[in-house]
Amino acid sequence: MSEHPLVEKYREFSPRSAELAERASDVFPGGDTRSSAHYSPYPLVMDEASGCRLRDVDGHELLDFMNNFTSLIHGHARPEVVDAVQAQVAKGSAYAATSLGQIELAERIVDRVDSIEQIRFTSSGTEGTLMALRCARAATGRQKIMKMEGGYHGSYELAEVSLVPIPGQAGGIDAPASNAIDASFPDSVLGDTVICPFNEPEHARNLIRAHADELAAIIVEPVLGSMGMLPATPAFLQALREEATAAGVVLVFDEVITYRLATGGAQERYGIAPDLTCLGKIIGGGLPVGAVGGKRELMQLFSPARENPVMHASTFSGNALTMAAGLAAIDAYDEAAADRINTLGDRLREGFNQAFLQSGIRGHAGGVGSLVNVHFTDKALNDSRQSFDAMLEAGHIAGLLHLTMLRHGVSSASRLMYCTSTAMGEADVDQAITAMHESLGELRPHIAEERPALLA
Ligand code: PLP
Repeated sequence: MSEHPLVEKYREFSPRSAELAERASDVFPGGDTRSSAHYSPYPLVMDEASGCRLRDVDGHELLDFMNNFTSLIHGHARPEVVDAVQAQVAKGSAYAATSLGQIELAERIVDRVDSIEQIRFTSSGTEGTLMALRCARAATGRQKIMKMEGGYHGSYELAEVSLVPIPGQAGGIDAPASNAIDASFPDSVLGDTVICPFNEPEHARNLIRAHADELAAIIVEPVLGSMGMLPATPAFLQALREEATAAGVVLVFDEVITYRLATGGAQERYGIAPDLTCLGKIIGGGLPVGAVGGKRELMQLFSPARENPVMHASTFSGNALTMAAGLAAIDAYDEAAADRINTLGDRLREGFNQAFLQSGIRGHAGGVGSLVNVHFTDKALNDSRQSFDAMLEAGHIAGLLHLTMLRHGVSSASRLMYCTSTAMGEADVDQAITAMHESLGELRPHIAEERPALLA
C-alpha cells in the first residue's frame, strides 16, 4: 500500500533522520528508547538545541514547543543552567551524601509551595508519584488508590490504569472500569485501583464515600495532561479535597507538569492545598528529576530516624548535578517569568484558534497558561471521554498535522501538546501560528477527502 502523500513529503524532508531511524531499529525495539517520544513513520533525530530552537540531523531549525514534554522551562542550554552544571560536574556529579545544593533546592520549593513543608527528591516523576502512594499507604494502613480516568502518573502499572477510556470497555461514568493498557498488568493492580471520572464532582463524592474505608490516596493532576491538557474545574478539586478530608484519605496533587503554571504550582492558582505534591520536570533544570513533598507529619514517615520508615532509596536521587541545574532553573523562574510564558501560551491558543476558524476545519486549542493542546473538535472538552472521542474522530489527521507542522519548522508532542518557555518571545509564538495556518491549509484537501466530518 502506498503511503499518505503528506507522509511521503515528511520522508523527503528528513532523509538523514530516516537513515538513522533505520539504524536505530536494529538496536531499539521500534527504533526508539522512549515510547512517548515515538511517532510514525519515524521521529526526527536531533543534533543540537539552544534556547527555543532545535536543529535536526538534516540541518532544519525547529521551534521547540515540546520542551521535552514540558520539562525545559527555559528551553535549551540556558546560560545560568549551563554554568551551574559545568561548575558542578567539575566538583563531582553524585556523592551518595547530602549536599548544599540539595538543601538549597529543597528550601526554594518549600518557600514557594505553601502545602510543602518537607520534601524528598527522586530521579523521575514516576518515582515521585510512586513514593507518594507508598507514603499514603503507610500513613493510612489502607491499600487502594483512586486515580482519574485518563490520568497519567508515570511508567508503572498503577500509574497507568485506565489511561485511555476505550469506548465499550470504560464502564459507566458513575464508576469507570479499571482497565489495563497493555498485557503486562497484574490483576492485583487493577483490583487496587478505583477509577474516578475527571471533572465529575458528584460522581467523585459518591465513589470516595463508597470506598472510604479502603482508600489510601486520591491522586489527581490539576490539568489532565496526556488526555490533552484539560484543566480541572475548581469545584472538582474542591470536592476531592473535602471528601478526602472526611474519609481520612491522603490527597495527592501530581504537579509534575503543572508546577510551571505559577511559582506555587497549580494549587496556588486554585487555592486548594493537597496533602502531598509530586513534582518533576522543570525542577531538574533539564536533568532527570522528581520529588514528593507535603505535610511534615506525612513526610516524616520517610525519616530513617523513626521505627519502620517508608523505604526510599534510588541511586541518583538528589544527585549534585541535577540539584545544581534545578537550582539555577528555579532561581531564574520567578513570578514575572511564569506570567510572561502563561501570556505567551494565551497568545498561542488564540492564534491557533484563529487558524482553525479561518481554515474551516473543526478544531481548537485548549489548555491553560503555558500549556496548550490542539484538538480536532470545536466543542469544549471537559473530561477524558470527550477528549478521547475527539481523538478517535480525528483518526490519522492529528498525526498528519504533527508531521506537517514539523516540516513547517515547529516541534510539538505528536499528540499536539505545545508549551511555551522563557526562551520564547512573541515573534516565536507568531511564527508557530503562521506555521499552523500553512499546515492546516495543506491539510484541508486531505481532510475533505479522508475525514469530511472534520470540516465546519
Ligand atoms: N506525572 C505526570 C503528570 C507526568 O506527566 C509524568 C510524565 O510525563 C510523570 C508523572 C512521570 O514523570 P517521569 O517521566 O519523569 O517519570
